[in-house]
Amino acid sequence: MKRQSQMLSARWIVPVTSEPIHGGWLEIDGGQVVDFGPGAAPRSAHDLGDVAVLPGLVNAHTHLEFSDCSEMVGFPGISLPEWIGQVVSTRRATDEASRSEAIECGMRECARTGTCLVGEIATPPCHYPSETNGIDLISFAEVLGLTSERGTERLDVAKAHLGLQACSGVSPHAPYSISRETLDRCLQLANVTNRLLAMHVAESPYERELLQTGAGPFAEALKSMGVWRDDLFPWPTDPFLWLIEKLAQAPRSLLIHANDLNDAEIAKLSEYPQMTVVYCPRTHHFFQYEPHPVATMLLHGVRVALGTDSRASNPDLNLWREAQFLWQHRVDLAPQSVLRMATWSGSEALGRNDVGCIRPGCLAKLGFVRSSASTEEELFRDFAAHDYVPLGGLNS
Ligand SMILES: [Zn+2]
Repeated sequence: MKRQSQMLSARWIVPVTSEPIHGGWLEIDGGQVVDFGPGAAPRSAHDLGDVAVLPGLVNAHTHLEFSDCSEMVGFPGISLPEWIGQVVSTRRATDEASRSEAIECGMRECARTGTCLVGEIATPPCHYPSETNGIDLISFAEVLGLTSERGTERLDVAKAHLGLQACSGVSPHAPYSISRETLDRCLQLANVTNRLLAMHVAESPYERELLQTGAGPFAEALKSMGVWRDDLFPWPTDPFLWLIEKLAQAPRSLLIHANDLNDAEIAKLSEYPQMTVVYCPRTHHFFQYEPHPVATMLLHGVRVALGTDSRASNPDLNLWREAQFLWQHRVDLAPQSVLRMATWSGSEALGRNDVGCIRPGCLAKLGFVRSSASTEEELFRDFAAHDYVPLGGLNS
């Protein structure tokens, strides 16, 4: 006997890639959305009542290996070089087994809070659980090292990671922690293997100072760690314009944070649709940086996705809370843009077109938020106030 598809109705259906529907339905079959629309369902439907049905959330940037942190490292407003020093000293002792445990713990937290796709930065070798709780991972192998030898060593490990993990990419860590020579080799690797690339870029103003002058707190930190080399810094004039053009050579690249990009750099970024900025609002808040230029980025047509970053700088891995933080604190942003950043923009950034939206053919990885709203304005007020709940038990 042919199994019948599942029909649901709700006060709101919010597809993200099209306008929210006040009073609608959706049909699910074989784990996929088959159809959806406004008004009464074509046949009898299970009515979810006063809720808004939404696509699954996408966390475009985290480091799951830090998911066992019960609290953030450092203190609010800590400088990035100092924070890194504290992370390195507190995490030095971790081994593969404890990293695996932390990864599993982080994946459970992501699943519980409605994230269905994660862009995760890994320190290979690492092990992912076979039971993924319905979460898809894009696992970026992190490459770190200012010396040629260290860069080669981490790049070799990254190559092995790309061979083992089908959904993987490469992550040259940051301009202050990788040589331009190793960055070139990461770009080559991304191109040869046709993989994604993610890099922390322009996170702290001290990074610009290092790249432009070869001095400042990052230079001091690198010297005290014994990894300074005189030929590494400063970079060429306009280092971030240079870097954006470099990273545009990858098939698809994610610029993590990009807090400190100026208007000219944002305009340059807008020339490359294969690039996405990942903004981690609560981590940004923890470091007490100047307001993030996300509004300017959106105005220029730069794609921006949301991430949580790790539990070493963020209170949890609940992506919905990042969106709620913006609905509550960044009233200069259109609420619809924030929702898109939390869902579809992350999918696009990570090269997926089957999650993060509701449309025929996409996976039925969905969730809901309680809402008795009659208007879109009220709906987004409810989003800012209520939790996102993953919708389990759907027809598959
Ligand atoms: Zn990060």
